[in-house]
Amino acid sequence: MHCARTWTQGKAQQMSRPRRQITPPAAGPENWPPNSFAARVPVKDLSDLLGGFRQVDFEPKEVVMREGEVGNSVAIVLAGQLKAETRDTHGRTHLLGLLGRGDLMGEMAFLDRRRRSASVIALGSGSYAEVPGGRFLDLVRESPRTSLEIARLVSARLRAAERRRLDFAAYQGPWRLASELVNLASVFRGAGQDQTVRIELTQDELAQIVNVSRISVQRAIRTLRERRLVRTEYGALVVPCVTCLAAAMPNQSGKESANGITGCSGTRSHG
Ligand SMILES: [Zn+2]
Repeated sequence: MHCARTWTQGKAQQMSRPRRQITPPAAGPENWPPNSFAARVPVKDLSDLLGGFRQVDFEPKEVVMREGEVGNSVAIVLAGQLKAETRDTHGRTHLLGLLGRGDLMGEMAFLDRRRRSASVIALGSGSYAEVPGGRFLDLVRESPRTSLEIARLVSARLRAAERRRLDFAAYQGPWRLASELVNLASVFRGAGQDQTVRIELTQDELAQIVNVSRISVQRAIRTLRERRLVRTEYGALVVPCVTCLAAAMPNQSGKESANGITGCSGTRSHG
């Protein structure tokens, strides 16, 4: 497929590009994607967490945290996207969620003093700030607001994992991909609330995330593209309008509420 080949080439070129230098991240919600952990914790607490941090770069497909390991640090994503997944007793992997800039990772092992409950794997290249576990725990003890944000984050992740499981059962064909694209949009959006989101993932990665075959992903993309809900670009899948994509999703009973209706291609503001 022509389109699949250009995606792979796009990815390869992206990997050979020189590594972007990450400037030390500034505390303050305006510097982070809205609703990310880094944007929600008090500025002083984030400064404490990031004080003297160690920047760790990662490569595509690198396992940055491994399920079952003893963790002695937490991390805040500075650039790039990662996925958290867990293995069941049959050895099947289950996607728990996606992480992007400003997200906290590795906190579970600290809070319940157990081994890592999930593996975190890089989708592309990027970097994170490693925070010593002791400093993280001190902050949890001293700052009620940050503790509350962590509790919120943990419960939001549990809910998202459950919703993903239900969505997979509820949606058929292209809508399985579409529902995941709505989730992915929040991870790839970056700072600001742009409607248009560029999702830099290959079709193989999308297939793995949605847990369907690559052929199914290609078929789904074709259907969604005909309805102007996505478009393909060099090395990425673009959602021109997240609002329209979300609105086109079938309702609870599986009926396509917006049957035949196409997306606005990012031309409307949706107030
Ligand atoms: Zn729209």
